[in-house]
Amino acid sequence: MADYAVIGFGCAGYYGAKTIRENDPVGNITVFSEHNYSPYNPMLTTYYVAGKIPFEGMFPFGDMEKIKDELKLNLVTGRKVVSVDAETKTVKMEDGEEFKFDKILIATGASAFAPTFKGLDPSEAFYMRTLDDAIKLKNALDENNYKSALVVGASMVGIKVVELLNRKGIKTTFADMAPRIFPLAAYESVSKEIERRIDEKGVVMALGSALSEAEKTENGYICTMSDGKKVECDLIVLCIGTRTNVSMLNPRQIKINKGVIVDENMRTSCEDIYCAGDVSEGGELQSKTSMIIGLWANAAHQGVTAGANMAGGTAKFDGNFMHNITHFMDMDFIGFGDNRLTGKRIVSGDITKGLYVEAVIGEEGLVGVNILDNYRISGAVKNYLYRIMETGNAKISPIQKGILIKEGLKPSFIEKLEGRYNG
Ligand SMILES: Cc1cc2nc3c(=O)[nH]c(=O)nc-3n(C[C@H](O)[C@H](O)[C@H](O)COP(=O)(O)OP(=O)(O)OC[C@H]3O[C@@H](n4cnc5c(N)ncnc54)[C@H](O)[C@@H]3O)c2cc1C
Repeated sequence: MADYAVIGFGCAGYYGAKTIRENDPVGNITVFSEHNYSPYNPMLTTYYVAGKIPFEGMFPFGDMEKIKDELKLNLVTGRKVVSVDAETKTVKMEDGEEFKFDKILIATGASAFAPTFKGLDPSEAFYMRTLDDAIKLKNALDENNYKSALVVGASMVGIKVVELLNRKGIKTTFADMAPRIFPLAAYESVSKEIERRIDEKGVVMALGSALSEAEKTENGYICTMSDGKKVECDLIVLCIGTRTNVSMLNPRQIKINKGVIVDENMRTSCEDIYCAGDVSEGGELQSKTSMIIGLWANAAHQGVTAGANMAGGTAKFDGNFMHNITHFMDMDFIGFGDNRLTGKRIVSGDITKGLYVEAVIGEEGLVGVNILDNYRISGAVKNYLYRIMETGNAKISPIQKGILIKEGLKPSFIEKLEGRYNG
């Protein structure tokens, strides 16, 4: 009987364990989780902090006892795995206990990057990555009458934090070193429009401006920014990126770049060690390189693929491409593809209201799209871009054309979306 181990019980770990069980009804599956929560969905944590969903609303797969019974799992929770030895096939816990495995799935995700800033103890700053981060911020907001905040990192996570603070009437400064918002996802015109709308809501945008140091005051901080400006605030939230949780792995045994390198079967460079989710670096379809793609659906597909292969199957996941579908501050922003790729720029709609689409057409067809204010067309456009990357010669299907037209795109623009650009 096989002994399977799964480290990390988030999206990738859950789908990994579930798929192992579906393919091997009798093997032992031991799941290691550093906390005692049931698998939760991190993207729901800001809704919990905002008071829009209850605590129980963050656990899409139900409670831990139910999952344990359904999947017949051995659970080792509330303790951290500190090392995985590929040669002896041993997992070691922080208290020294050891477990043997035949095959293991690394699904440990990523942690918020928490650098030290002069004058700011990292433990006094707030982050938004884990459930504990969300609980800490919610409790602080409930217990204190904060009037002002500094959110550092104009990322998709940062904007959600800004939104909830703004809704609570907290005067918020939103800072980033980059000269514009979402520089890796939005085209410049779209960044500018999003910045305008955020500004209209009363948020102070501080772009091209990094946090340099913070001086503690009686109620909060006086922050000095890299451009010399001062920002007074009661709390500081750092949303400046993540680092993969790979410290339990030995880089002499297993190939790690920014994340653990995996192939399309979710195999790592070590036999019997698989990896899935935000900790892994897998295929990116557009650049045809390996990349960390920190998205829920990606973690789910990778977990399923790893689980099937661990239990003797032959599943394959070709990879994904960079995309963001986000709703914040009464707007939808959707960005698909690499926004640095050049070609012919085409636009549809008025950027200030209603459906706006900006796309870049390259030699092989569509290479990138931004959509403002309509998430309903995102599925059709994403599917089309995916098929271009997959086959190099795709057309928008009649059903998907129908959706685009119903939502307000003109047939002439759809024709341009299907075109190619030869310089
Ligand atoms: C605020 C926020 C908003 C987001 N919004 C979106 C969105 O809109 N759309 C989208 O697609 N994605 C979004 N994401 C990303 C998405 O949530 C992740 O891609 C996904 O949850 C990754 O799942 P995972 O299983 O790889 O990692 P995780 O969910 O991070 O799970 C990893 C687990 O491993 C555990 N672990 C780590 N180290 C150890 C150890 N040494 N021992 C034992 N256990 C360990 C961790 O505690 C954790 O429970 C968002 C994320 C955040 C934080």
